[in-house]
Amino acid sequence: MTIPGSTIPKGLQRRIARERIAHLLHLAERELDDHRDRSRRYVSLARRISMRCKVRMPGEWRRRICKRCNLLLVPGKTSTVRIRDSRLNVTCRGCGRVHRYPYGRDVT
Ligand SMILES: [Zn+2]
Repeated sequence: MTIPGSTIPKGLQRRIARERIAHLLHLAERELDDHRDRSRRYVSLARRISMRCKVRMPGEWRRRICKRCNLLLVPGKTSTVRIRDSRLNVTCRGCGRVHRYPYGRDVT
């Protein structure tokens, strides 16, 4: 989506969006231990940019964000990871939401 009134070409806009998302996610990672709410805020901003500009979250981050509370999921720290019935269950320790992904059975 082009921001209304904007004359910036869409390609450039999305490139800037990708840069901002990457930057915000790195900030979120850095603030996770000491300022968890600030970290959540960075994640929510990154997600909003991603949705508005139709830029996908970078692959390595997609599974590291809680869809409910915007917490950055770090296994053993902010999330619990378990394998069950050929599924990877990632439980957010912030809100308890379980994210399920296929695992095994020819899909990783
Ligand atoms: Zn959560």
